[in-house]
Amino acid sequence: MTTPGALTTWGSTSNGHRSRPGRAAVTAAQRRAAVTAGTVLTALLQAADQEVPAAVALRRELHASPELGGHETTTASRVAAALGDPGAPSVTTGRIVRIGAASGPSVAIRAELDALPLTERTPVAWASQNGASHSCGHDVHLAALTAAGRAVRRAGGPLPLVAVLQPREESQPGGAQDLIGSRQLEAQDVRAMIGVHVHPHVPRGQVSVGPGPVNAAYDEVTINVRGPGGHAAYPHVTRDPVVAAAHVIVALQHLISRRTDPMHPAVLTIGTAHAGTAANVVPDHVALTGSLRTFEPTDRASLRSAVSATAGATAEAYECTAQATFTQGEPVLDNDPALAAAAAACLAQAGFAVVDSLRSCGSDDFAFYCTRYPSLMMFAGVGQPGTPDAPGLHHPSFLPREEAVEDVARIMLAGYVAACSVVLPGTSAPAPPAPR
Ligand SMILES: [Zn+2]
Repeated sequence: MTTPGALTTWGSTSNGHRSRPGRAAVTAAQRRAAVTAGTVLTALLQAADQEVPAAVALRRELHASPELGGHETTTASRVAAALGDPGAPSVTTGRIVRIGAASGPSVAIRAELDALPLTERTPVAWASQNGASHSCGHDVHLAALTAAGRAVRRAGGPLPLVAVLQPREESQPGGAQDLIGSRQLEAQDVRAMIGVHVHPHVPRGQVSVGPGPVNAAYDEVTINVRGPGGHAAYPHVTRDPVVAAAHVIVALQHLISRRTDPMHPAVLTIGTAHAGTAANVVPDHVALTGSLRTFEPTDRASLRSAVSATAGATAEAYECTAQATFTQGEPVLDNDPALAAAAAACLAQAGFAVVDSLRSCGSDDFAFYCTRYPSLMMFAGVGQPGTPDAPGLHHPSFLPREEAVEDVARIMLAGYVAACSVVLPGTSAPAPPAPR
């Protein structure tokens, strides 16, 4: 990416953002510090250039030694130290690093600490050998956050930056709830949350950022199907729950295709089915697990009850029983419109093509921050032209190129400057980018 030249001066219109009681007032000095978004962003991007080589080296180091959710203490310590604060406070296995003034309003950037329980299949010398892998790109996010944070430390910024090193993004319950429950974000007077996720479906050089819902609400379901088991040679004296469970799986397929408004995105996937111990035994239990992803709150409620009713009635037809239990995951990830607009302008100035192409039934516990703070998730393009079948997120061969560290750092800084422009009263975002 190239560093932009002359940049738009921040205006003076009010952002009209929701304010929260009990917060320290933004000072006149902070307001003066936010005179021009362009000047601030230029200085930060130039400072980040100095930090990128070390961040790329750190990415290799983190990539080679991934840690699973709930066990990320070494990763968190390493990243906190790279951000210049090895003693930063812990929240479960995560850390919070504040850069800038010790009190007053701040902007937070979240990066995820955890890897996946996948055996890596990439050719690089720094591939993980420990059975876990950073196949979701969290190593890139963490390394990029060190470059962005160190740039703010070096060049300064309109507001303090809080680096949120969040544990357990990949498991339920997600680590975002640790952070919210700890009240550490309130203690840091966080006024806006920024997140960036690499995405192979977005070409490199582009960033997908848009207002409103971009990721689905997520619930996990377990369905226990039960019936009297017995000898495989005498099925007539059993009520085979394997057969019943097979019909339950098929019956559930109509809930999205026939019972959900086609204009409402929703997904129901049965991901596991476990039963039995021997080929010649009819078991008495089958356990199914799956995920339900929705955007509309009414769909979330009605599909949960429809899954329970359909599973129960289907199993009953085979003289078995089925009981569905749900674990509620994250809500819809709802991007703040003012942050999205401000970020689009800053991203354009940072040399990125801004698109609004990626809204998916993926999910991310970043969504919990959206219920508390004006929040923005941006998807950083790491796709390469002519490689439509390249491994995607959560694939053991997924490996963003090293340039992604610099890209994500620049996107984080654009988001940070945009958030400062929205949070600080009396300022506004730079002019929006021209339509493409
Ligand atoms: Zn991820």
